[in-house]
Amino acid sequence: MQIFTNPQKLSAQCKAWRKAGDTLALVPTMGYYHKGHENLMAYGRKIADRLVVSLFVNPTQFGPNEDLEAYPRDMARDTAIAERHGVDAFFCPGPDAMYETNHATWVEVPELAKGLCGKSRPIHFRGVCTVVMKLFQIVHPDFAIFGQKDWQQQAIIRRMVRDLNLDVKIIALPTTREEDGLALSSRNVYMLPEERARAHWIRLGLLQARAMAAAGEKDVGKLRKAVLETWTKELPMGEVDYLAIVEPESLEPLASINGPALMACAVRVGKSRLIDNILLQE
Ligand code: AMP
Repeated sequence: MQIFTNPQKLSAQCKAWRKAGDTLALVPTMGYYHKGHENLMAYGRKIADRLVVSLFVNPTQFGPNEDLEAYPRDMARDTAIAERHGVDAFFCPGPDAMYETNHATWVEVPELAKGLCGKSRPIHFRGVCTVVMKLFQIVHPDFAIFGQKDWQQQAIIRRMVRDLNLDVKIIALPTTREEDGLALSSRNVYMLPEERARAHWIRLGLLQARAMAAAGEKDVGKLRKAVLETWTKELPMGEVDYLAIVEPESLEPLASINGPALMACAVRVGKSRLIDNILLQE
């Protein structure tokens, strides 16, 4: 595995691979790997000749009061995991290598970034789009692999790729979970044991909504109410940032379920802000 910190050097290597006829897969990450990241890497390893994994805790996607400094990091362990997954190029730039001091260009998809996580994280997706665009320009991957856990993120990236005619196939893989159903996240480590012991109720609430929808409930208000009641009872320390039902591609809020519908949420449990989602109807 080659380790790169310099964008130009990675760019030159990727160019050489493409010239040799190799296909490239890119997995963008912020590190502190869990099985969810590993599944993305394993998938990338299968579908392309060359696998590029980036590890960059991107400062521009963190708001002023968010956990940029505290974001968990373990470079030695992450490097070993990437190596184990047959990564060809592991790209770990410092912030200065990715952003010039007078960086002034941004990529935004405001229509899709205004709701859900964008409401409480107003600059988040601008930072995500910009850094992903930069990674695409450095690597020129054939495939870029994301997780469905960050549903809004993959929807926004897909729209960016379509709108800007980028030649990359976006793949979003299902969420990898703990045995009790909690979505794996680097931020799960912030939880105290008693918080962790109840956090799987996030998923159970979403499953309850899906069961109700499958049984014919179409009223978004009733579905939301049922989930919120369950959380109040079973996850009393949870502070709901949002619980919404939206059209999965446009992310527009739905009043009733008459076609594809996604229920998405963010819940603060202790110091962790946990997100999850479920398709109520495909
Ligand atoms: P992060 O390092 O948290 O920015 O995540 C890097 C990529 O891994 C993103 O595309 C995430 O959507 C994806 N990811 C994070 N957690 C999971 C999970 N539990 N299952 C599947 N993919 C995930």
